[in-house]
Amino acid sequence: MSSPAPLSSWALNVSPSPTLTIDGKAKALQAAGEDVCGFAAGEPDFDTPEHIKNAAIEALKSGKTKYAANPGIEPLRQALAAKYLADYGLKIAPTQIVVSPGGKFSCYLAILAVCSPGDEVIIPAPYWVSYPEMVKLAGAVPKFVLAPDTTGFRITAAQLEAAITPKTKLLILNSPSNPTGAVYSRKEIEDLVAVALKHNLYIMSDEIYEHLVYDGETMVAPATLSPEAQERTIIVSGFSKTYAMTGWRLGTLVASAPIAKAAAELQSQMTSNATTFGQYGALAALVEKDKTQASLKLMLEAFDRRRKFLHAELNKIPGVSCVLSKGAFYLFPNISSFGLSSNDFCAKLLENEKVAAVPGSAFGAEGYLRLSYATSDAIIAKGVERLARFCRTLKS
Ligand SMILES: *Cc1c(COP(=O)(O)O)cnc(C)c1O
Repeated sequence: MSSPAPLSSWALNVSPSPTLTIDGKAKALQAAGEDVCGFAAGEPDFDTPEHIKNAAIEALKSGKTKYAANPGIEPLRQALAAKYLADYGLKIAPTQIVVSPGGKFSCYLAILAVCSPGDEVIIPAPYWVSYPEMVKLAGAVPKFVLAPDTTGFRITAAQLEAAITPKTKLLILNSPSNPTGAVYSRKEIEDLVAVALKHNLYIMSDEIYEHLVYDGETMVAPATLSPEAQERTIIVSGFSKTYAMTGWRLGTLVASAPIAKAAAELQSQMTSNATTFGQYGALAALVEKDKTQASLKLMLEAFDRRRKFLHAELNKIPGVSCVLSKGAFYLFPNISSFGLSSNDFCAKLLENEKVAAVPGSAFGAEGYLRLSYATSDAIIAKGVERLARFCRTLKS
């Protein structure tokens, strides 16, 4: 019998998410009885606030179990429009909003809405693992611009300008950033947006960590800079990180009317509406503001405490240096002095010390690790102690 015909180029060229792979390995070790300190997961360790859960339960009980409007239930789109007006002064019609099955899917819709095969997409590195794969699935070409720790993991307008070619269609921005936690200043965003507009690019602004900022920092949304910037920017976000709702699979996309319409049409053929009763939970997150704020405040206090602790402990380890980033829930320490690839470093760290971290290479930046501090204080303390011991063995 002849061997079966090959799978598609899409299937053969896609790489599985390395963060999910490492987290899976750590969970398997744990299931086998090992005492694992997991820094790999990219999700809050908090549970979804009660009022959000209750609203979804009520919706489920009252029969909100059918298909809903493809771009999202009307009250949720209206609540999102109100949120963007209140938080950012952005005037957005509900028809410019698409509720999707996850922020990840919103990113994919944004890319599919504006990129044709052969178009180039500029992705600042270190980048979120899914951007290059999504760009490739759209037939477009990722172009990376590297920002090392010495520049706070933030690219400059000059770097952006140098990477633009006649084929460039889209710039992806993600501030606060996964994996580095970097937050761009207003001036930096202004300069980047000016270059993007000058070259007629679209901007996909991934604002999933919009509320997870520390030290009095605020996220500057590119769309708020000018009407032209708003016209050209696709805001992708979602409920996963701010409201501890990763498993709910609810994302958002906000764009000019033609782009939002295109995204909704793509979604209508690929998935249809996001889970109907879940959207009522998301509605409660936006409408019952006081309860949501109270939960968010508790989560932010815990993240901030862990951020400062982990940062201080990392910098005590000879050979490790770490920038104090101001957003999301990640630190991205530099481990290049040990002379190991980040892959080998992480593999040995997991094997010898049962500490799970994601290698920088997964994010397009060799010589670093991504550590998520969205885990308990006790695990962080124990894990960083083991990491210090591991580093001492490498140095001796
Ligand atoms: C977590 C995350 C998302 C989206 O997550 P969903 O769970 O799909 O909503 C998007 N972008 C970045 C950078 C993220 O870290």
